[in-house]
Formats: sequence, structure tokens, C-alpha cells
Amino acid sequence: MAQVRPSAIGELLALGADPSIISFGGGYPDATLFPADQLAKVFDEIIRAPGGAAMQYAPSDGLPRLREQIAALMVADGMACTAGDVLVLQGSQQGLDFAARMLVDPGDVIVTEDPTFLGALIAFAPSQPAYAVVPVDAHGMRTDLLAGVLAANPKARMIYTVPDFQNPTGVTLSLARRKELIALANRHDLIVLEDTPYRHIRFSGQNLPTLKSLDTEGRVIHLGSFSKVLVPGLRIGWALAAPDLLARMGLLKVAADTQTSTLNMAAASLFLDRYDLWAHIARLRAAYAVKKEAMLDAIRRHLPQDIAATDPEGGLFTWLTFDEGFDATAFMRDVALPKARVAFVPGATFFPLTPRANFARLNFSAQPIEKIEAGIAALGRALHTRP
Ligand code: PMP
Repeated sequence: MAQVRPSAIGELLALGADPSIISFGGGYPDATLFPADQLAKVFDEIIRAPGGAAMQYAPSDGLPRLREQIAALMVADGMACTAGDVLVLQGSQQGLDFAARMLVDPGDVIVTEDPTFLGALIAFAPSQPAYAVVPVDAHGMRTDLLAGVLAANPKARMIYTVPDFQNPTGVTLSLARRKELIALANRHDLIVLEDTPYRHIRFSGQNLPTLKSLDTEGRVIHLGSFSKVLVPGLRIGWALAAPDLLARMGLLKVAADTQTSTLNMAAASLFLDRYDLWAHIARLRAAYAVKKEAMLDAIRRHLPQDIAATDPEGGLFTWLTFDEGFDATAFMRDVALPKARVAFVPGATFFPLTPRANFARLNFSAQPIEKIEAGIAALGRALHTRP
């Protein structure tokens, strides 16, 4: 428990909930795009169905029909599997927790991108890992540096990666690097934890194969989620993994919460039967592509030219790089929130080992276009007048 601390940014982001503040902080999908009418229909139907199965306990691995449907989605994405290879989780976040509990003893090393997803660091913390980090560039994790990192860290147990439209940077791991990562994991006998909540929110460029689809040795645990493509409130994610790994995660599932909510699994399942998830995702991709462009365009027009922003091919975030010496946490606390009335996530919190101050993560999915414009303009005014 001593390892589990409140996140330093929680307090700042709580301020972002103030409606007078434009928040680019949370990784929230656009709530106006939630399929509310369709979900209302499926919830009504499952609750009224004779026998009350949707209100009953369910198998801890997940409703069989939903596991089949998820397996079909994974097969369509190039991963050979059946329902038995799928464990339904309470969000992919639960998979991060289980993977660390299953694989990492205190002092074992987790290899991550630098920066990486803060929620993963929070989930891993109770397992008391040590970290070895690999920088990212425009093509994702620098796998040319990974070999050296692994050679220097014999206690490495797993590589955690967000290959598609990474949180926080928005960058995507190239195909060559995907292959190199798998080859290195094979050579060093490591588990790869592949976390893909943004994978299907692609605006441009070519879909790349998942690490799982490149894995011939059963060492990739693939995590998927309905949070960004359906609604996060359902709290439905899943793991796809080799039988021995999946069985052990299944034991942790029983211990943690017995099962994911039957109601939510049944609703997701009926939604998939009744409606076209891919058509819904196509709408999300189109809408978020416009928002991404609006934010990048506003950044080009309003922010000082020396601030670099990633131009992601998908996902929910862009990542700003300020000049060395700029402290984005202090800027947020002293200027952006109180004066510009704009929130973002200062980058320091995403670095597992050595926080770096001159970065910020901006979400472009949650706010309407006019607030994206107004918020970036306000940030620009604040940055142009900074001392
Ligand atoms: N992994 C990454 C990279 C994320 O950004 C998130 C949520 N923002 C999660 C996992 C957790 O998602 P969920 O539990 O809602 O599936």
C-alpha cells in the first residue's frame, strides 16, 4: 500500500471539472456520440427478458455469447482465436492490474515506453516493480534501443506497450518495430502486454497488425476495450492470451470481482447482435478526425511556433513538446487553470523513472470544435505572454 499514492495531477484535473474551464485533460470520448437510444433499447430488452438471466450471476470468464462475439472481432482484426481464448474484464484497466499481479514480484522489471500510460503505472504500483524505459519517437517505441535495455535488465519480466496511437503521445509503432519487439521478446523469453483501447479509432494511414497476430510463441497478452468504441461506462474490456496465462488471469478475476457485470455484458452482447459496431466506429473515426484537425490547426495558428505537437493517425491525444526548461506543471497550476481557464495533463506524470517537465498531453475528442478553438486560443495568449 505504501506504493499506492494519489496521482499528483488528480487535484489539478478535478479543477478541470469546473464548467467554466475548457478541459483537454481527461481521455474522455465525445459523449454526444454515445449510442444512447440503442443502448436504452438493449438494456430494456435484456431486463424484461423472461427468466432474468441478465440480472443473474454469470460465469466469471464472461457471458459465453459475448466471448464469442469478442473472438469474432479479434479474428476480423487478424488474431486467430476462439471464445475460449477470451477473458472478459472490467475494462482493460483490470487487465493491467492482473498482468502485474500475475507476472511481477517486487523488484522485477517492467519495460515501458517513456512516456507511458499513467493508469498502467497506477495499476502496476502495488506489485512494486522496477522500471526500465525506452524512449519513443514518431514511430513508437525505439526498438533499436530495446535490445540494450533488455541486455542490461536480466530481471525484466514483461514489456508493456500501447502500440496504436499511444497514450500519451499519440504515436504508432511501425510494422518493422512490431516485428523487432516480438523478436526481442522471444529472445529474452518475456511476456508482452499489448494495450489497444484506441486501435480502431484510425483517421489515416494503414492498419498495422497487432503484436498478438505476430506472436508465434504465445507470449503476447492482448488487451482490448469497448471504452473508446462504445461507451466507457459499460466497463467492458478483455484479454486474449495463451491458455496458461488466461487461466491464471481467470483465477485473479474470481478473486477480484467474481465476474464483470452481467447486465453490462448482456447489453454489450445484444448491442453487437442488433447493431453494426463497425458502422458506429466509422462515425467516431470521422468525427474525431475532424476534431484532431481542428486542434492541430488551432495549435498551428495560436501557439508559439517553437512548440511541437504530434499529429496522430488516430486515437484521442496530441503531445506537446515545449522548450527545455519550460515547466508544464507550473504553467498549468499558475497560468493555464487560473488565468486561461484551460486544463491539460502536464507531461511529467507519464514518465516512470525521470519526470520531464516540458511536455503536455492534450485530448481532442471530448470538447466541441468551438471549445477546441477557444481553448487553444486562450492557451496561446497565455503562452505568448509568459515571462
Ligand atoms: N489503456 C490505455 C492506454 C488507456 O488510455 C486506458 C483508458 N484511458 C485504459 C487502458 C483503460 O481503459 P478501460 O479500462 O476503460 O478499458
